[in-house]
Parts: sequence; C-alpha cells; structure tokens
Amino acid sequence: MFQWRKRSRGAAASRWSAVLGSPERRVARTGLLGASLAALAMLLAALAPAAEAKPNNANCQGSFGNSISGFMSHDDQRRAVARLDRSPHIETEVVGHSNQGREIWTVRAGEGSTVMFIQGGIHGLEQHGTKAVLNLMQTLGDDSARSREIREALTVVTIPDINPDGSSVPQRQNMMPWSDVMEMHPQLPDQPRAWYFSNFRQGFDVNRDFNANLGYEPDPADLPGDSASFGFYITPEARTSRAVYGALESEFGLVDVFIDLHNQGSCHQVPDEERFSMLSISGRFLADPTAHGDWPLFDDDASRRINVAAYDALQRAGSGFGDITRYPQPPGLDLPGTALGSYALRGSAVMLFETSEGTNQNEMGFSVKQVEVGLTGIIDAITDGTLDDIDPDRYDEVPAR
Ligand SMILES: [Zn+2]
Repeated sequence: MFQWRKRSRGAAASRWSAVLGSPERRVARTGLLGASLAALAMLLAALAPAAEAKPNNANCQGSFGNSISGFMSHDDQRRAVARLDRSPHIETEVVGHSNQGREIWTVRAGEGSTVMFIQGGIHGLEQHGTKAVLNLMQTLGDDSARSREIREALTVVTIPDINPDGSSVPQRQNMMPWSDVMEMHPQLPDQPRAWYFSNFRQGFDVNRDFNANLGYEPDPADLPGDSASFGFYITPEARTSRAVYGALESEFGLVDVFIDLHNQGSCHQVPDEERFSMLSISGRFLADPTAHGDWPLFDDDASRRINVAAYDALQRAGSGFGDITRYPQPPGLDLPGTALGSYALRGSAVMLFETSEGTNQNEMGFSVKQVEVGLTGIIDAITDGTLDDIDPDRYDEVPAR
C-alpha cells in the first residue's frame, strides 16, 4: 500500500497498526459520544415521514441505457490528469490499477488540516462525477486568491474514476471473472461467490465491496454475505480506495469528509409528480449504525451538515440547480458494504450525489455543474468556518424523492 508523504501533524504517527486492526477509540471530534449519536440517528430514522417507506426508485424512470457520448474515455482522463499535474498546486499519482490494469489516479490539492476525499465513477455507467471532479481540481489548482485560501484551509484528495474497467464497457460492475478472484485470493473457492458478483457481467458491484474494518481480508467463511452486511475487499478497485482512505486516516487522524459521486435514472419530485429532480443527495446509509461493531467516531450530525451546506449552495445558485431531492433513507435503505456506509462508521462526514442521467450534452453539462456547485458549497463552508454553525436537523428540509 502506498503512503502519502508525511506531514507534521502529531496525530499522524504510526496509525497503520490501528487502521489494520479492530476499530480504535479516539476522541470524537464533536465531543459527543458516537453511541449517543447513533441512538439519535435511529430515533430520527424512526420519526421519518411515512412517505420515505415507499420502495426505492418508485418514482424514478428505469435505468439508463449504454449511451456514453460526452463521457470521458480513459485516454481523455489521462490527458486531463497530466494537464492538472502541471499546476504547482496539484499533485497527481497513479495509486492503483483496475483488475484489467488501467490506471487509477488521485489528484490532490491543498495543505489544510481538514481533509476531503472525493470519489467518482465507482459504477461504470455513472460518470458525471469524473468530469466534475476534474473541473473542480482545475479550479483549486489555479492562482486565484480564493483557491489559495481554500488550499490553506483544506486538503482535497480525489479519485476521478475508481472503476475505469466498468467505465470502458460501460457497465455498472468492474471486470473480474471469478477465476481472477481465485487467483488473487487463493483462499477463496469457486463457490459460494460473493452476493454482489454478477455472473452475467463477470464483475462486481464495487460499491458493495467495502468494510469498515480496513484490515479485512476475504474470508471464505463470510461468503456469500448479503446487502445488510459488510463487503469483502475482493476487488482491486475497492482495495485501492481503501488504501487511499487508510493513508489519509494515517496522515490526518480522521478523514473529515468523504463524498461518492453517482448517477441515477430520472426521478420525479415528490409530491410534485410533474417536475423532475435532477439531483438526489443523502448522508445516511445505515439502518442501525450500532449493528456492525463498535465505531465510536460515527458522526451523523457531521454528515447531515455537509449535505445541508451543498443543498444551500445549490439553492443559492438558482437556475434549476436547487431542484434537489433526498435519496431514499434508512431504515428502508441499509448498505454497510458501500464506501459511504463503511467510511461513515469510521467517522467521516459522508455525502452521496446522484445526478440524473443526461440524455443530451446540455443536460450532461448541467449535471456536471450541479455536482461542482454542491462540492464547492461544502468547500466554502469549511474554508469560511461556517460548517459547524449549520443545524444538522435542516437535513429534513430536503424533499423526499
Ligand atoms: Zn451508482
């Protein structure tokens, strides 16, 4: 596993032993006990409006087709990363490779003590985030006074495309037949296979391959598993994300913010069935955060605050940017094996962006911009010191999808 270059923060010393073992106890950032936050989360979930009990996607139109015109090819991404690398304020690195050997890059800017980790493209069909992240980093790498302020307050680390094999098909899954699994993990037999492996696609839903225990290695006794349990870090792609996250945790003590960028089918506003919502957001992915072991840093308030910061920025932007809905919530949704679910348990404030599929270039440009505006809202709130003033209960202002 790679390591970021070491910085002078005292908390960074020798975190790997803790990272690779069982969850450690650290002082919670907010001063509140994680357990009481978890209890609060459960209470709030229980009080959630009944409208949220309807099945996921009930008001969303089908899935997207295979059109990727307008998305960036892997070669396009390589060129964009090389261009960003010319900025004296940007560091780029090949931090890993996909199962088929494509590069997975990180693009990093800033020296601030708060760290924000943004990941795009984990589902190969969903690529608005890749472009948005590259645009954002171009801005953060420029010589403007504002970008310099942000770089002083924040360290922003991005993986523009964590699943380049899936993007190249395109398909939701990575490309990893089970024969490759047995080669990479000789302890695993041919059966049973992980529940999130697709025999049809010969690959994994990488966004179910995560585990809050960063030291986990695939154990045949745990397979096939299910959606209410952790994943197994079988795929090189999830293992690369884990390596980046773990190294940042070693460096900073806590990965303050983690954001995952996705696309969904076109969804109607609820209760207004005539209007479309171009973006759904969420900061909650676990029906019961206490059900997966002892994770004292889990911080539901921090997650809700960054969601509100993005929501407010998009409302201010006008021009349709503010037509946002809230993605289906727990307890109906329960996904500990997602990057968002697992990293939330480790204490990161987490946020999901689900842009609507773009059917033409204009809509795609809108969706990319919408992600940029939302991300910038969070960055501004951290940089200006206003994030902690946000009332996390305002999360409930975001209308249900
Ligand atoms: Zn997705």
